[in-house]
Amino acid sequence: MDNNRDTAADPLPQTGPGTEMPETELPGTEASETNLPETEAAQLVPLAELHLHIEGTLQPELILELAERNGITLPYSGLEELRGLYEFTDLQSFLDLYYANMAVLQTERDFADMTRAYLARAAAAGVRHAEIMMDPQAHLSRGVSLETCVKGVASALATSQEDFGMSTLLIAAFLRDQSEESALEVLDGLLAMNAPIAAIGLDSAEVGYPPAKFERLFAKAREAGLRLTAHAGEEGPPSYIIEALDVLGVERIDHGIRCMEDPDLVERLVEDRIPLTVCPLSNVRLRAVDTLADHPLPAMLAAGLNVSVNSDDPAYFGGYVDDNFSQLKAVFDLSDFDRARLAANSIHSSFASEERKAELLDELNGG
Ligand SMILES: [Zn+2]
Repeated sequence: MDNNRDTAADPLPQTGPGTEMPETELPGTEASETNLPETEAAQLVPLAELHLHIEGTLQPELILELAERNGITLPYSGLEELRGLYEFTDLQSFLDLYYANMAVLQTERDFADMTRAYLARAAAAGVRHAEIMMDPQAHLSRGVSLETCVKGVASALATSQEDFGMSTLLIAAFLRDQSEESALEVLDGLLAMNAPIAAIGLDSAEVGYPPAKFERLFAKAREAGLRLTAHAGEEGPPSYIIEALDVLGVERIDHGIRCMEDPDLVERLVEDRIPLTVCPLSNVRLRAVDTLADHPLPAMLAAGLNVSVNSDDPAYFGGYVDDNFSQLKAVFDLSDFDRARLAANSIHSSFASEERKAELLDELNGG
């Protein structure tokens, strides 16, 4: 997400049928009457989701349930009014809602319920491995402890394989519009509690907060044996991508779509097979592109870039990874070959073990 977009009207059409929650026992949500339509389900390919903010998966039904459980009074009259707010048409209304909704997350159980709801929905979308970002600073700043948010999410991830057939990893993401000192303090806390994190990331408002601001943070995480990723080139210039690679030493770039403005950078990214975790519906909602038809994904594939498709903040941006695929298919006539290639890229680009990657690739190839 970011907070520097124009506040133009949202041209995105209503999301397709795949957006409905699947008929699975979701903690804290009512199962919907319909499952994924058979035609959609038949088109699912097993893949990895690499760019997902767990706080961006909070659905209105669960927000109301958690509010009631925690005795929190929300400034909405009920589900219909809250649902209406998800149809935001400008960035500020998104950010206001995004942070206001987090208020319902108070206990480990709340974080675990939110995480399980995502896992159930992602499993129905074909996701077989997920690398999930959480923003500890967004919770610490409202008085929720590191232990509560980390243990809550981690408890759901610990049984993701048995419960949903998905392997998972946790990524601690840091808010780039906050200070590096704050981030270092949180990283120290995570390391001190031996938090089960595999990687760190960098997210939130991009422009004006270049990656180099966090050089010490990333050096420290690397020393601690953590994998490294960062949002760059979503709304920020291509030079931010170069900085994230050269100064922070990241292995993966989240978004990265603005690399297309710099042919030398594209050549480098192709040559080094640097993964770019692209989020098409998010880019439309936050006005990085005007419409899905203007999205550079086809050009990125044609250039030979290592791109994958991800949902970013699916409760807010119009859908989960299957929704991204079905809308891409509708607009670009994405071929089965491209879908399989995007899925293979997601698996190769994950931080999973080589053994797990081999299993996932076998599954993708019908093995
Ligand atoms: Zn993101």
